[in-house]
Amino acid sequence: MIHPCAPAAFGGEAPGTAGAGLPVYSYRFSVSGLSAWPRRGKDCYTTIVQVLYNSLRQRANTGSGSMTTRTEKSQSAAAPRPNLGVSACLLGHAVRFDGGHKRDVFVVSELSRYTDIVAFCPETAIGLPVPRPPIRLVGDDPARPRAVGVRDPSIDVTEQLGDYAESVAGNAATIDGFVLKKDSPSCGMTRVKLYPESGGPAARSTSGVFGRVLQDRLPQLPVEEEGRLNDPVLRENFVNRVFVHRRWRALCDEGITAARLIDFHTRHKYLVMAHSNAAYRRLGTLLSNLAGDRAQSAAPAYFETLMEALERRVNRARHCNVMQHVLGYLKKRIDAGDKAELTDAIERYRREEVPLIVPITLFRHYFRVHPDPYISSQVYLDPHPEALRLRNLI
Ligand code: SF4
Repeated sequence: MIHPCAPAAFGGEAPGTAGAGLPVYSYRFSVSGLSAWPRRGKDCYTTIVQVLYNSLRQRANTGSGSMTTRTEKSQSAAAPRPNLGVSACLLGHAVRFDGGHKRDVFVVSELSRYTDIVAFCPETAIGLPVPRPPIRLVGDDPARPRAVGVRDPSIDVTEQLGDYAESVAGNAATIDGFVLKKDSPSCGMTRVKLYPESGGPAARSTSGVFGRVLQDRLPQLPVEEEGRLNDPVLRENFVNRVFVHRRWRALCDEGITAARLIDFHTRHKYLVMAHSNAAYRRLGTLLSNLAGDRAQSAAPAYFETLMEALERRVNRARHCNVMQHVLGYLKKRIDAGDKAELTDAIERYRREEVPLIVPITLFRHYFRVHPDPYISSQVYLDPHPEALRLRNLI
């Protein structure tokens, strides 16, 4: 059954399953167990944010404002848990050709607290043993490489890997993103080595067979490699898109109506504007006429444009622009000193003196004290679980 309002690329089994008939590995830890964040970030920026919180609480308790308890659910807390497909070796499963694994700390210790993990190993799924002779990609066309044995090129598993990837892609309607093992001739997303037919050195010019099919068949699905997730901006961008994808699925499960589509668009306004003002305008145009049953037909193009926009790398100038807009909602509610403090935090973020979490924390504080229904509906101030600390390093 095709997901009721999924983009055309989605197909396969009914909502409510984890997809691909594979087990869901769900890891939940207490926040106090948090230990894997890079020392520099943890020591440095957690201290900054803690000091900020303490100072705001102190001020609230001494009378310049009331530090209200936040009773409404935050945007990210209200979001349902995404399902995340992950290359099994990144989860610590000993499925690699040499019998080992490549356990990834961020995926296992951090991401898995807030997502339900589905493990995929294309090579063992097509029946290759562990351990096994290694394979590599050979060919002269980066779009059509063959996956063959390194020592025995007569072993060719291209077709089997392709068929498996097609079946996963066809059953991925409830998956919200994939984290793939970099450099793998099966899982690699980009810059995988391709060896020329005639021999000679490899060029990093192709994708693994599984990784390629996923990206071709599911262009709106967030896909990243564990290596690229070491870049804090790419990491935050990927997790953002996974949670947007999950919220979109929730909307589809509820049923697309004009009112729900407009509400979804409104809640994501500042998040999209941080990536591209032009894309936000394009999205608005797509929703400009939802009379009759047009919401259903507008939804796939809307979602495609949205996911394309969110893939763009965010920079500090765009974040600052969005925060200046958000500041406008406090203009008549805070005094000149508080406004100067917020403006200064934004400018210090622009000058790379503080991470994004600093002005964002100040905004959250001021909107707790002076609630605004429009801003509290915005995903921008709270797009993913705060404990992931993704904005502490950007
Ligand atoms: S990279 Fe992919 S195919 Fe290779 S061991 Fe890991 S999950 Fe399996």
